[in-house]
Amino acid sequence: MSNAMEDVRRFFGTACKVLNLSQDLQTQLITPHRELRVECNIRMDNGSVGTFVGYRVQHDNARGPFKGGLRYHPEVDANEVTALASLMTWKTAVVDVPFGGGKGGISVDPKKLSAHELQRLTRKFVDGIHDIIGPKVDIPAPDMNTNPQIMAWIMDQYAAHHGFEPGVVTGKPVDLFGSLGRDAATGRGCMITAEAWLKEQGKSFAGTKVAVQGFGNVGSWAARLMREKGAIIVAASDVTGGVRNNDGLDIDALMAHARATGGVKGFGGGTATTNEEVLSGPCDVVVPAALGGVITPAIAKEMQAKLVVEGANGPTLPEADTILQQRGITAIPDILANAGGVTVSYFEWVQNIQQFRWEEERVNTELTKYLLKAYDAVSKASKKHQIDMRTAAFVVAIERVASATAMRGL
Ligand code: NAD
Repeated sequence: MSNAMEDVRRFFGTACKVLNLSQDLQTQLITPHRELRVECNIRMDNGSVGTFVGYRVQHDNARGPFKGGLRYHPEVDANEVTALASLMTWKTAVVDVPFGGGKGGISVDPKKLSAHELQRLTRKFVDGIHDIIGPKVDIPAPDMNTNPQIMAWIMDQYAAHHGFEPGVVTGKPVDLFGSLGRDAATGRGCMITAEAWLKEQGKSFAGTKVAVQGFGNVGSWAARLMREKGAIIVAASDVTGGVRNNDGLDIDALMAHARATGGVKGFGGGTATTNEEVLSGPCDVVVPAALGGVITPAIAKEMQAKLVVEGANGPTLPEADTILQQRGITAIPDILANAGGVTVSYFEWVQNIQQFRWEEERVNTELTKYLLKAYDAVSKASKKHQIDMRTAAFVVAIERVASATAMRGL
């Protein structure tokens, strides 16, 4: 996602034209509120000093505290974090949760750190950003290569500075103020929004053939929940490779295989295939749930599916998006399809503030309500303005943020 910011600006600009938004407001909305870069020095296990750079970008808080994940990855840089922070502003607005958008991360390959080093780095990072985060200010969450354990360390280190405030971070372990249902939430959101689209076409998941790229948290939950609704999962892939079975993969067996061997490669219940073929091969629905930028113009030209459900952030390049539209392939955009995670993060924050745990059934019922309402708003905007779902989602989001911004005044 090297041109991530450029891609977001393009999608943003297209929607602003539909809305006929003034240039002043456009500039105000796209400009990030605050960008913080911190140096994190830690003692490595071998006695040397490790120096890492961390970022927190707060994009917009017109509708509520900044909200967005923390990514630990060697390619994390100011450009990527800023683009992802902006996407969070539109995502929280589409699903109408009372948050703005933020994002952060550390430029590091966490696989090269021991658990102790990872903990020291996380705590050092919190020491650097604690003054600008907080339950009413900015609430981080997990993203690529960060997990509930890391969120627990963040909560603990923030408490060292400001006292007990579990609502400072979401995606925490269920035993430490986390929410039931958070784990499955993003995959569940993919299922809910895809089902809403199928319903509009007079169809259902029964017999629908689905291919999933990325078999981690989002992809495996999406596959499992779509299969429960009657879908046939014909292909799945991850960093190790892919597997296809046009009669349907046994998802439970595939998950057990991936857990035991570290990936889907070598699974006996299908034939080996590639990540590219999973995206472009025969199926009705494709769920990209791994990296950004995987749906290239070449893949878009070959794609056989009728629907793309963007589990990953930014999986479709703008040029590829145009090709999909020309070919009549619908994309449910990331800011809607994968918003289930931030929606349940909102529920976690509410539970932390209320100091009251919801049952999982309540979490899932509320999640379905929020996502169907968001889907409906996007679908209506798409029909009203005769635009694709991505532009429509940006239109809905920008309209909401612009309205809050205008009401707040300068
Ligand atoms: P994860 O780490 O659990 O899983 C990622 C999967 O992608 C793994 O199966 C991995 O093997 C696969 N992968 C990595 N590199 C790959 C490559 N080069 N080719 C093919 N597959 C590859 O991560 P996740 O939480 O499932 O997140 C997946 C995507 O969804 C990311 O883009 C993330 O930003 C986005 N997302 C996640 C959430 C959430 O709640 N977890 C919410 C919104 C968006």
